Amino acid sequence: MSAQQVPIVLLKEGTSETKGSQAQRNNITAAKTVAEIVRTSLGPRGMDKMLVDTLGDVTITNDGATILKEIDVQHPAAKMMVEISKATDNEVGDGTTSTVVLAGALLEKAEELVSKNVHPTVIVEGFKKASQKAIDTLRDIAIKVSPTDKEFLGKVARTSMASKMVSANSQELSDIVVDAVLAVAEKSGESYRVDIDNIKVEKKAGGSIRDTKLVHGVILDKEVVHGAMPKRIDGAKIALVNSPLEIEKTEFDAKININSPDQMQRFIDEENRMLKAMVDKVVSAGANVLLCQKGIDDMAQHYLAKANIMAVRRIKESDMFKLAKATGARIVSNLDELSASDLGFAKVAEERKVETDKWVFIEECKNPKAVSILVRGGSQRVVDEADRSVHDAIMAVKDVVEYPSVLVGGGAPEALVSLKLREWASSLSGRSQLAAEKFADGIETIPIVLAENAGMDPLDTQVQLRSKSTTGKARYGIDVMNGKVADLAAKDIYEPLAVKEQVINAATEAACMILRIDDVIAASKPKDTPKPPSHGGGGMGDMDM
Ligand code: ADP
Ligand code: MG
Repeated sequence: MSAQQVPIVLLKEGTSETKGSQAQRNNITAAKTVAEIVRTSLGPRGMDKMLVDTLGDVTITNDGATILKEIDVQHPAAKMMVEISKATDNEVGDGTTSTVVLAGALLEKAEELVSKNVHPTVIVEGFKKASQKAIDTLRDIAIKVSPTDKEFLGKVARTSMASKMVSANSQELSDIVVDAVLAVAEKSGESYRVDIDNIKVEKKAGGSIRDTKLVHGVILDKEVVHGAMPKRIDGAKIALVNSPLEIEKTEFDAKININSPDQMQRFIDEENRMLKAMVDKVVSAGANVLLCQKGIDDMAQHYLAKANIMAVRRIKESDMFKLAKATGARIVSNLDELSASDLGFAKVAEERKVETDKWVFIEECKNPKAVSILVRGGSQRVVDEADRSVHDAIMAVKDVVEYPSVLVGGGAPEALVSLKLREWASSLSGRSQLAAEKFADGIETIPIVLAENAGMDPLDTQVQLRSKSTTGKARYGIDVMNGKVADLAAKDIYEPLAVKEQVINAATEAACMILRIDDVIAASKPKDTPKPPSHGGGGMGDMDM
């Protein structure tokens, strides 16, 4: 054997590799940077971000998940932070900013230990245990509520909207949100389930946020199909049909030879007769509103109009399901089967002008299991942000209806949890104690950031908060409006326990995942596809190969 070393090529040319503490530092820095971006938007006194995408579209928001969705981050560790905010958005709907801020704080604290040569595995283990302890503590201090307690649900909805542009209107909006969620909540055994797909949120720029309203039924962004049809029907008897009121074209190329005008007329007559027969079915079932998932032929429209039936065509399938839930109708796929028992009911079916569009409102249904919210606001951006805030509030209320425990907000539970964690940490030995203490510091970041964003001094706040929390009651948090530490239960600031649990779980997971990585192997980027040669010009740009 020759003593000469032959280099072993393991990775493809162009692959980059960062190893060990360097990789770790890079990852932590990238993740912390993401947290830094959303940090200033946490809480009611947090700032909004204006995001401009590549097409020049502007989004103004303070929703963590939305901010991170809109910015195009490249670093893999930063991407993980974006993903946890998305996961939190999907799971519980609110708490997206908190998740990212907390994950960033945990990494910052972990970094201090790493630099003191504590092995990441030890930190990860300590963090995992501490997060479990934190969640146990939250469960201990949580307040159990009745899942249908409108007053509490309203408080939760208002807290969720407190940090948004719509906060001035949170009273009206929270009533709408709570009514909507309770309308679609379904009891199963002792608990409730809420499928938020049964709440249709339509938005339209114009008017003001105050004009936002709840419709006990479904809003269809379609118009009545024929001008001669009634535009309003009181006591609507609704047929939901998912087959076309048209003569089906033959599947394959068929040729019909027509040799005389007579024959032509007979052909048309036959078609009309078939269409008339279809309309007659609707009439004889007793319907006065026809909502069709497919097309409605001109001639059928004419017959429907003559029978004083209001009809809408090409309704989305998802809306058909909502209509069925709202009105109690059964969706019929074969017109021959349509009977009076398939019909659904609504007090009013009406086409209304919403700005420049005409929409059909199927409303005042009795006990609808699907409802709609029409979100209004001065401009497109306001409506978009109002829509996101309504979504967050719907999710927060759903969280409480499904898991009826709440916590006081404003960083109060975090302050108490960090205190309890420190007590508990002192019972641990060795390095896991260090990790648990750092976790406690990480949790405390939430009230501190809330305070910072409210212009308060972070250190003073920390001292005050610690002394107040020793009472063992998780009520003392950051009263951001008055810039002091205060009893927030007295201010009706409540949040779902489900959100806080998710925030802690998701942030811990992300922090631990990032800490465990000690090797980043990145494939080289595919080369940009060469630009087609430009003709004529020949400026400097073209020479740049
Ligand atoms: P997230 O995306 O994490 O929900 P927010 O910007 O909505 O972020 O801020 C949520 C934080 O603001 C929570 O910790 C909540 O308790 C707190 N908060 C909400 N309303 C108030 C209030 N009126 N006073 C103090 N803190 C509040
Ligand atoms: Mg929120």
